[in-house]
Amino acid sequence: MGYNKRMKLDDGTTLRYSRNILIREIGPEGQEKILGSSALVVGAGGLGSPALLYLAAAGIGRIGVADRDRVEITNLNRQVIHKESSVGRRKVESAGECIRAIRSDVLLEEHGEALTAENAVQRFREYDVVIDGSDNFPTKYLCSDASVLTGVPLVHAGVLRFGGQILTVIPGAGPCLRCLIPEIPPRRDAPTCAEAGILGGVAGIVGAWQAVEALKIVAGVGEPLSGRLLALDTLAGTVSVHAVSRDPRCPACGEAPRIRLPLEASEYDQERSCLI
Ligand SMILES: [Zn+2]
Repeated sequence: MGYNKRMKLDDGTTLRYSRNILIREIGPEGQEKILGSSALVVGAGGLGSPALLYLAAAGIGRIGVADRDRVEITNLNRQVIHKESSVGRRKVESAGECIRAIRSDVLLEEHGEALTAENAVQRFREYDVVIDGSDNFPTKYLCSDASVLTGVPLVHAGVLRFGGQILTVIPGAGPCLRCLIPEIPPRRDAPTCAEAGILGGVAGIVGAWQAVEALKIVAGVGEPLSGRLLALDTLAGTVSVHAVSRDPRCPACGEAPRIRLPLEASEYDQERSCLI
C-alpha cells in the first residue's frame, strides 16, 4: 500500500496542508500518509467530480481517473469538474486539466478506456483505495467484486433525484455490495440519472463524502462506513445509517464464493455497453 512509503513534509507542504495538519486526528503523520497514497476514481461524472477535486486538494499523491466518455451539455448540472468549453472533450482530459490547475505536483493517471471484467482487477491493484463514481449497476458490481478479489478498499455510492447512499467495502472485514443485493438488479428496476434525473448538489454532497471516506482510509483515522449503509434524502432532510452484515452465502465474499479470479465478463453482460 502506498501509505507505507510516507512522504516527508517540507516547509512548502507543511504550509499548504496546514489546515489538514491542524486536525488532531490527522496531524503531520496523517498528512504524510495522504501525500504518499494513491486513489482511483471510477467515473469523472457527478460523483467523481467532487471526489477528484477534494482528493487532489487534500494532497493524495497519485490519482487515477477512469472514464471513457466525452463531456456532454447535460453533464454540466452536476459534473462540476468540467466546463462549457469542455463539451465534446474526453472527460479524463477535461478532468485532468482541472486537477492539474489545483495541484501541479499531483501524479495523475488518465485511464480513457472502459473499466472491464478483463482489466478491473489489474487496475485496482495499482491503487490504495478506489472510489466508485460510476452511474450504472454493472460497473458498481464490477467495482465491488474487484475490491473483494484484490483486497483494495472501495467507497461505493449511488445517487438519484434528491437522494444518495454510501457503503465502504473493506474486504475481509466488512460486507460487499453483493452482501446487500446479491445480483445485479434488472435493468427495469434500476433507473439511471438519464431516466430519473439527479439534482447536482446531491451528487456533490455524496461525492465529497466519498472523498472523505477515502482520505480516512489512507490516513488510517476514524471509522469507515463499513457494514453501515448511509442513506441521504435531501428532500426530506434526513440522513440515516443502516447496519449491513456480511452474508455467508454472498457470491463474492461468502464461504463458497462463485465470483473468482479472473472476473467473468458474462457476469456483467447485461449492460456491457454501459461500462464506464
Ligand atoms: Zn459480500
